[in-house]
Amino acid sequence: MHSTASDGTTPPQDLATLAKAAGVAAIALTDHDTTEGLPACAEACARQKIAFVPGIEVSADPGPPPGEPADSPIRRGTLHILGLFVRHDDPLLLAVRERMREARDSRNPAIVGKLNELGVSIRYEEVTTLAATQGTQIIGRPHIAQVLVEKGYVKSVQDAFARYLRQGAPAYVRRDRLPADEAIDAIHHAGGLAIMAHPVQLGAADPDDLEHRVIRLKELGLDGIETRHSDHTANLVARFEALAAKLNLLTTGGSDFHGSRKPVELGSQRVPMAVYERLQVAWRRP
Ligand code: AMP
Ligand code: ZN
Repeated sequence: MHSTASDGTTPPQDLATLAKAAGVAAIALTDHDTTEGLPACAEACARQKIAFVPGIEVSADPGPPPGEPADSPIRRGTLHILGLFVRHDDPLLLAVRERMREARDSRNPAIVGKLNELGVSIRYEEVTTLAATQGTQIIGRPHIAQVLVEKGYVKSVQDAFARYLRQGAPAYVRRDRLPADEAIDAIHHAGGLAIMAHPVQLGAADPDDLEHRVIRLKELGLDGIETRHSDHTANLVARFEALAAKLNLLTTGGSDFHGSRKPVELGSQRVPMAVYERLQVAWRRP
C-alpha cells in the first residue's frame, strides 16, 4: 500500500483502520522511495492487531531493452523493487530517499515546463503546494496529475497519464533511477527482502525476455517477485507463480492501494496468509 508519505491519499496511520474494516489480516506499506510513513503505520497496525510489513518501493533502472547495447540510453518499462521488512532508519535507505528526491525535484519542473509548452497553464508551485498540504516530500507524476484534474485540463488522474504523463506521452520526462544492484543492496543493508514489483510493468518483450531479466536480478540478490497485483490477470499470476517456482524465488502480492489516486480497492487482491508466513521465515533466516 501507499500513503501520503509518497503518492497515496491516505495518511499512514489510517491505513490500518481501513485494512481492519476490509477484513485484511496483514499489510505492507511500501511508499515510493521513502520509509517516512512506517513508524506511524506500524503503531496503528499494532493497535488494530494487524500484521505489518514495513517496506519501501525503490525506483530502479530497468536497463536497455533487449537487442540494445549495454551502454544504450534507451529505456522501456518500469522496474520497481520492493523492500519488505526493512528498518525504516537504515542509513543507506535514507540516502536512497535523498537521491530519489533530488532526481524528482529536477524532473518535476521539467514536466511542468513541457505542459506549459503544450498550452497547459499550471505552475510548479501549485504541485508543491498540493504535496505540502499532504505532508509529502516525495512528489510524483500523480501529484501533477491531480493539479491537472483540479484545473479542469483532464477528467481524471488516469486521463492525465494517458494524455500527458505516461512514458511516451508529450509531457513525459524520465528521471534518474537507482541501478538495480544498488537498490537491492540498500534493501538488504536495511535487513529487508528485495522483491520485483508488478513484473508486468517491466514491459518485457516475451516470457523468455522476462525470465532472462529476472535471472539477472536474482544474480544481483533478488529474493522474490510480486505475482498477485491489481495489474495482473489470472493468466499472468499463474505465469509469474510458475516462474518464481522455477527460479526458486519467493512470491508476494498486494492491491497497490493508492487511496483515491488509483481505481484500486483496498483488500482487492486475495493473498493467502501462507505467502506472508513464507516471507517471514525467509526474512528471519540468517
Ligand atoms: P513517478 O514516480 O513520479 O514517476 O510516478 C509514478 C507513479 O505514477 C506510479 O507509481 C503510479 O502510482 C502512477 N502511475 C504511473 N503510470 C500511471 C498511469 N498510466 N495511470 C495512473 N497512474 C500511473
Ligand atoms: Zn510500483
